[in-house]
Amino acid sequence: MNVYDSRRIINGLQSIGYKESQSAEKADLVIVNTCSVREKAEQKAFSFLGRLASLKKKNPNLIIGVGGCVAQQEGKAILKRVPFVDIVFGTHAIGRLPQQIAEIEKNRCRIVDAKLSDTIEPIQPSGISESKSPVTGFVTIMRGCNNFCTYCIVPYVRGREVSRPPDEILSEIKAYVSSGMREVTLLGQNVNSYGTKEDLCSFSELLSMVNEIDNLSRIRFTTSHPKDISEALIHSFQSLDKLCHHIHLPVQSGSTRILKKMNRNYTRDHYLKIVEKLRLSCPDIAITSDMIVGFPGETETDFNNTLDLVKTVQFDGLFAFAYSDRPKTPAVKFSDKISEPEKKERLQRLLNLQERYTKEKNEALLGKVEPVLVEGLSKKQSETNLDENGTDSSWTGRTSTNKIVNFSLNEKDIAGSGIVPGKTIDIKIIRALAHSLRGKPAEHKESSHDIKGEKNYAA
Ligand code: SAH
Ligand code: SF4
Repeated sequence: MNVYDSRRIINGLQSIGYKESQSAEKADLVIVNTCSVREKAEQKAFSFLGRLASLKKKNPNLIIGVGGCVAQQEGKAILKRVPFVDIVFGTHAIGRLPQQIAEIEKNRCRIVDAKLSDTIEPIQPSGISESKSPVTGFVTIMRGCNNFCTYCIVPYVRGREVSRPPDEILSEIKAYVSSGMREVTLLGQNVNSYGTKEDLCSFSELLSMVNEIDNLSRIRFTTSHPKDISEALIHSFQSLDKLCHHIHLPVQSGSTRILKKMNRNYTRDHYLKIVEKLRLSCPDIAITSDMIVGFPGETETDFNNTLDLVKTVQFDGLFAFAYSDRPKTPAVKFSDKISEPEKKERLQRLLNLQERYTKEKNEALLGKVEPVLVEGLSKKQSETNLDENGTDSSWTGRTSTNKIVNFSLNEKDIAGSGIVPGKTIDIKIIRALAHSLRGKPAEHKESSHDIKGEKNYAA
């Protein structure tokens, strides 16, 4: 979500003449886009801001802005706490940022714009919102959240749920595809309730429409709330050829008692049923999740239920967090807080357990041939030169199940087959590492995964 917002901020600033700078030292304007979902993220934002003080001293004309959830949450308190900040803008103020910056340039004033609107205002389409490369990108389909999980700050800093009309979403994706994007990730705090309030279409209907977009190869989405997952969505993994075989389905706890205190509105058993149905519909589906340990009142038995759920489901990956109090949330007032050392210890036990499954899931792919969407050159090229014939390029992409694969191609192969980022090629998995895979191009065969009219790689 923040990456997408950063892209919208950049687009807005470009419209008033700013260009991206490679370093804060050389910039005339620095925007810190913050997240306050977890305490650590908020601390990081303030410590980064602290480091900007020396830049402002050197260049008093430098404009410094703070956006995102922390800006929304703290508002003008940031101007007091960090005296060299020029503008604080909330999560609904991104569209107004260019005019506010122009105002600061003219009058050297300090601005706070942290209004949250409850009305259904259209979300401004952003420019290309690329993540790692233009091959893959994000498109937000809704913003805000109405669920009020008792630990979560999102509804307070991002406001009520608002969905964008399907035609607006489809036009944005089509525009990105025509400039080279091949994979889109649809974003929302709970995509499963897309369109409900506005009586638009259902999320699975939206997916079907996105699936029809020519020259788009892959569709992903995040995040899915288990309480709202529909049979139609589960079936989409079978019926939509572009929908990737991966779902991020945050469970948060393996204890029904704790889930109730979290206001998650599903039980452990219900979650396990969904997992079963997903695997029936799509046997190779990768399932990842979020987990909070040390929620107020979590007993050793509750925590063991969490460990047990992880053993039962065997997630492909897990983001695990120690519970932290967030301002305004009901859980702040809950009794029986878990001590920091206890939370840390539980977190470590959970991470150790999950590591085993992540590794096993990666190892299960050894020797298999996977269609991989080529995203570009890999960052650590030197580590990935695996080809016994000697290679001068190391490439990266992901499987449909969202696993990173690094692989090598030699210049002749690339020239012969015209491999460029954006093509889907068949890669044989030859090594499984903790968090990525290594592969090599498989024997040539026509891949049904590529977009029509494009040739596949011939090894
Ligand atoms: N909308 C998504 C999650 C958004 S927040 C969902 O419903 O799943 C991302 C993750 O941060 C959450 O899934 C949760 O695991 C974690 N998180 C949120 N608030 C937290 C808190 N107070 N302490 C620790 N982790 C938290
Ligand atoms: Fe937060 Fe719950 Fe909404 Fe997710 S569904 S954003 S965890 S309140």
